This record gives sequence, structure tokens and C-alpha cells, in this order.
Amino acid sequence: MGKLSRDKRDVFYRKAKESGYRARSAYKLLQIDAEFDLFGFEGGDDGHQPQHHDDVDQSPHTSSNDEARDTETTKRRPTLVVQRAVDLCAAPGGWSQVLVERMMGENYMTSSQDTLTTPNDTSSSPAIVAVDLWPMEPLAGVHCLQGDITSLDTAKSIIQHFQGQRSELVVCDGAPDVIGLQEFDEYCQSQLLLAAINITTHVLATGGTFVAKIFRGRDVGLIYTQLKLLFESVICAKPTASRNASIESFVVCRGFGYGTLPVEKCLDLELEGSWDELCGGVGGLRLVPGEDVIPSIVPFVSCSKLKDCSMPSGVDFMDSDKSYPVHEAKAPLAPPIRPPYEAAKGRTSGGRNG
Ligand code: SAM
Repeated sequence: MGKLSRDKRDVFYRKAKESGYRARSAYKLLQIDAEFDLFGFEGGDDGHQPQHHDDVDQSPHTSSNDEARDTETTKRRPTLVVQRAVDLCAAPGGWSQVLVERMMGENYMTSSQDTLTTPNDTSSSPAIVAVDLWPMEPLAGVHCLQGDITSLDTAKSIIQHFQGQRSELVVCDGAPDVIGLQEFDEYCQSQLLLAAINITTHVLATGGTFVAKIFRGRDVGLIYTQLKLLFESVICAKPTASRNASIESFVVCRGFGYGTLPVEKCLDLELEGSWDELCGGVGGLRLVPGEDVIPSIVPFVSCSKLKDCSMPSGVDFMDSDKSYPVHEAKAPLAPPIRPPYEAAKGRTSGGRNG
């Protein structure tokens, strides 16, 4: 979490530092969890229905928004109790911290500062794998993998770590380095999402949940269509911790294997064979409009709740677009390790000094 002048005024940035989170994005996952109860509990159906159906993500191909909303939210299997979870594109680790808290208890991180390992027996204890292109500060209870989620080797490493067991939850907050050309950025984001979906089909348990960042661009309906093949319920969520001005939202997909594709097909993909199909565009989850790929709509839910969370001092409502000027600036908790801009920064200051 760096120190940008705009971020200094952001209440979630400030609250993240006060609460020990490595990134303000932790609040996005916390708000999604408060709305959707991602982690389940022993004993079955939580009966949960999202509260704020503010809108529906539009598509010209569907006639009734209400119809789509009802279909997505009324019939749903119980959320699985999460024993294993995967955090794709995890650095610096804010979402991984939320996974640790929710799966191992709020005190786990502070009580096990010296035990920066995942329990060996992943069959009975909660296990978390975090993957990123960049190195990540170790985090108690999390197995950190440095790798590219678009690479087959990374997929294999995740699968290997779970020793054949599947996880109940996969989250992905991945974002490519945006260059400012909107359509290109959206395309890169959708390719990253497809890579995440591909890995997910190999590591997620039947009935499991997938949460991922999505850019709500022009062709987002095509991705919804693909997700509906694999999941029983697909909802687009916008936590208030995500700035209004951003096209970023999150898909919350539940009931893996209960989409329109038969469950055997979802689980039966050969990793090597499916990679090209899912990411490359030949059949499978391709992204180009065609006769058999019609854009879908999904319900749109705004998430503003936060479970068990106190406001920062002097703040009574957290709004990421509001300025809160009076606060004490704190140092970043987990500065990036060897960030890509380091070399350029060195050259610039060297030039100035010299
Ligand atoms: N959820 C994280 C947190 O709470 O700390 C923040 C994630 S940050 C917004 C996006 C991350 O995606 C970056 O750390 C970036 O390195 C990672 N990323 C982008 N493309 C990737 C790829 N192909 N494979 C793995 N990680 C990737």
C-alpha cells in the first residue's frame, strides 16, 4: 500500500492502516463477505439473499431484468464451509489476510507471528494458497506462490499443493498494469479473468464459490454467459470500498458445477487441453460474440455493509469518494518488494541528484 496524495484522503486506506491490513482492497472482500456470507458455516443453508438489488447489469438480449434477478437469487445451494481457499493475484496480501481471519479466526495472525507456515496436513486444517507475479511478504497460515496465473505451471503448483483435494473458495483481485487505453485494458482484464476461471475449474470443489474482479465494459455480458455455464448463480457486486468512478466490480459466482454445463464437463477438463480452449478462444469459454455465445445479464448488488467493523475515529460513514482531511498519516504496512517501478525511480532520482 503506497502513499498517493489521493489515497491519503481515502477512508478505507486510512482504516486499513489502522486495522493492520496490507491493502485497502481488504475492505472490498470484507464488504462482499458481509453481503454474501462467502465462508459458510456448519449446518447447511444460510437462507441468505442479497439485500440491495439496486440494478441489473444490462444486456440488449434479455427482456426482463426482474426475471433474471429472481432466477439468480431464489434457488441456491447452501454455501460450503471453507476449509481450503485460493487467493489469485494476492500481493501485497490484503485479501489473504481476510481469508486468514475468516477461516482461522481473527486472532490467528497476531497469535502466530512466528509461525509463518501453512499446516502440513491440509486435509483437516484450513489451508490458503496465495499466488502473485510479485513476491509477497510471508503471512501466517498462507502458502505464498510466486507465479503467473496465465501459466500452466502455476496452475499445476496450486493443484499440487492441495494434494488432489479441491478448495471451497477461489478469489481473484487480479488487475493487469493498465495503460489507459480503455478497450485494451478491458481486454487484458478479461484475459486475466479467463485464466483465473481456468485454474478455478481445476481446483474448486463442486458447489464452491468464485469471487473475481471484473471490468464492466462493453462486452462484459459475454463473460457472464461463460460463468453461467459453470455456476448456478452469478451476481455482479460493487462494494462501496471500490470507487464509484472505477469500472471495477466483482463477480460472485456460487454453486460451481451447477451451471448450464453438466457437472461432469466442468470437472472433466484436461488441464493442458483446456488451457487453449479457455484462454485462447477456440470453443470453450471464448470471448467473441457468436451464434452460441450470447451476452447475459446478471443482478447487480451494491455492498455497503461491514461485519464487526468499527469506523475510524471521526468518521461515521465510510465513503471511498469522500474526503476526510483530518487524520494522522501512517507508514505503509507492507511496501511492495522489488516493485517494477524501482529501477525507473532510481534512474530519476539519480538524474536529479546528478
Ligand atoms: N488483492 C490484493 C490485496 O488485497 O492485497 C491486491 C491485488 S492487486 C490489485 C493486483 C495484483 O494482481 C498485483 O499484485 C499484480 O501483481 C497481480 N497480477 C496481475 N497479473 C497477474 C498474473 N498474470 N499472475 C499473477 N498475478 C498477477
